[in-house]
Amino acid sequence: MCKHILNAQVSVRSPCCQKWFDCPECHDEVSKHPLRKTMEMVFACKKCKKVFRKDMTLFEESDEFCPHCDNRYIIDAKTPQMGIGVEGDDPRLQRDFRAKQLRETELDFMSERLG
Ligand SMILES: [Zn+2]
Ligand SMILES: [Zn+2]
Ligand SMILES: [Zn+2]
Repeated sequence: MCKHILNAQVSVRSPCCQKWFDCPECHDEVSKHPLRKTMEMVFACKKCKKVFRKDMTLFEESDEFCPHCDNRYIIDAKTPQMGIGVEGDDPRLQRDFRAKQLRETELDFMSERLG
């Protein structure tokens, strides 16, 4: 359990620094580097304390359960604030997108000045 996801059922091992975190935000708070994305996630079930791997490219409905104790760990995250995405919400991509938008408005501005 962490302050971002109040009902976290698993810890995830970060592929970049090999440490255990409850969520990507916990990683970012203590790390000076962005969390590396991986297709093979390593989870530790909080209920039975066992570690298991999942290939995220082959994720099926039955993979939402811990293979050791059947604890369902893919659940809707309870977050203290609304609007914090858990999956599919890559802050790095959003930042890139925003940077791109900024560059485009910059170019518009430049061409206006030139024209
Ligand atoms: Zn890391
Ligand atoms: Zn967290
Ligand atoms: Zn388990």
